[in-house]
Amino acid sequence: MAVDHTTSSAQQADLHRAEPVDLVVVGAGPAGMSAATRAARAGLSVVMIDEQNAVGGQIYRAIERADARRKEILGPDYAAGAAIAEDFVRSGARHLPGATVWQVTRERSVHYLKDGKVGSFAAQRVILASGALERPFPIPGWTLPGVLTAGAAQILLKSAGEVPAAPPVLAGCGPLLYLLGWQYVRAGVPIRALVDTTRHEDRWRAKSHLFAALRAWPFLSKGLQLLRTLRDARVPIYEGADDLAIEGTQGADGTQRAAALTFTSQGRAQRVEADVILLHQGVVPNTQFTQALRAAHRWDPAQLCFTPQTDAWGELDVPGIFVAGDGAGIGGAQAAAQQGTLAALAVASQLGMLDTATREREAHAHRAALARVMRIRPFLDSLYRPRDANRIPADSTIVCRCEEVTAGELRGFVALGCVGPNQAKSFGRCGMGPCQGRLCGLTVTEVIADARKVQPDEVGYYRIRPPIKPITLGELAGE
Ligand SMILES: Cc1cc2nc3c(=O)[nH]c(=O)nc-3n(C[C@H](O)[C@H](O)[C@H](O)COP(=O)(O)OP(=O)(O)OC[C@H]3O[C@@H](n4cnc5c(N)ncnc54)[C@H](O)[C@@H]3O)c2cc1C
Repeated sequence: MAVDHTTSSAQQADLHRAEPVDLVVVGAGPAGMSAATRAARAGLSVVMIDEQNAVGGQIYRAIERADARRKEILGPDYAAGAAIAEDFVRSGARHLPGATVWQVTRERSVHYLKDGKVGSFAAQRVILASGALERPFPIPGWTLPGVLTAGAAQILLKSAGEVPAAPPVLAGCGPLLYLLGWQYVRAGVPIRALVDTTRHEDRWRAKSHLFAALRAWPFLSKGLQLLRTLRDARVPIYEGADDLAIEGTQGADGTQRAAALTFTSQGRAQRVEADVILLHQGVVPNTQFTQALRAAHRWDPAQLCFTPQTDAWGELDVPGIFVAGDGAGIGGAQAAAQQGTLAALAVASQLGMLDTATREREAHAHRAALARVMRIRPFLDSLYRPRDANRIPADSTIVCRCEEVTAGELRGFVALGCVGPNQAKSFGRCGMGPCQGRLCGLTVTEVIADARKVQPDEVGYYRIRPPIKPITLGELAGE
């Protein structure tokens, strides 16, 4: 094991009960696998932890188990994950699957829960590669049974080959929405409608980034191919959709469930009946760990989310802790892999397993590749900027699903002097449910900022505390 002379006394105390390791990587997506692979090759002892039962993260979910038919349906971008997973397996890094990390401390103790038992590592370095979350889509009726996110529907498709029993409506914007439509068409699943919220003004705004995007032509061409496939399959596509709301109906058991999506498109009122409505308006960095570490974050006005601030290697202002992949800002799978490798090079160098010249030589190629794949981002971020109304909802819409707090109640808290998400917790338990604010955090920030007429940076985010993911007292006592 490499020696680190910066080990703090707090970490020394933890070493008595935690397993020592050079590097813990949290997340087994493209960022995590690339980081773990490169670090293990440098001779570091590496553990990669993920709550999924297999490597792959979101994009390459269940890649090792996927047969040829599933790879064909999910497409070549999915199949490309097999090579990254094989490299990881050959690297000698350890994989801890089915383990949920519920705390990472500033002293680099990593605590996890696996099979109902807790465990921990005392790491010299930590790379957080916990990826992205789907942006909340708070419209009237979004909490009704039958409404899922497109990402959740795709997880069922990737992990179990499951598709909706009745033709779904796909609504919103962003590459993942069209990708799922494309995958359904290839799987022979009929789609009731694709309701696209992208407006003319979004297209105009995006045009100013078209030249840079053309230099990332393969991405653009893939996007056009997705849309062509949907049109060829005669999927009804409604453009410029606004005023989205989901109507409910009473089921046989007396409870409400989704029955139709209503909206306007090109100035006309529309109503599309469907039992399954799949919503999506982009992904945002999963910052639960970096927020809990009290690392510096800033509001990204282009991606409309908070991102942790890092140096060029991904190191936070918390020494020895790095962030790579979508958790550092949305860049997609190829960017995530490059960022993972860069973070691993920095870790290997800091722990004395890689000389500076080799680190710089290798990093040069990865930085160039990263810059290449990031050229498309300004175009995508402008084109698929989610509408204000779909992020900052009307009063009657539920914002915090766990505690059932509406946007109107939040605005009421602001009128009473609530200045940010943390006060909203004390005013009305907003964000205090089992998801710990993962699903409502950004909406709460934006609703309060809008009500106070200030920028989201000024309002800030929830003060996240461990456990990041639910853990029972009994399980905790095991430690
Ligand atoms: C639902 C969803 C589906 C997506 N599907 C696609 C797609 O099909 N194609 C595409 O191009 N892009 C897709 N994306 C975007 C894609 O996630 C990224 O571009 C890319 O995968 C980012 O890679 P990453 O390594 O940063 O993170 P990810 O691939 O997201 O990997 C992060 C990993 O961290 C793990 N993790 C998170 N928190 C914890 C914790 N507390 N304990 C243990 N493990 C944890 C997760 O289980 C996950 O495996 C999707 C995003 C989402 C949210």
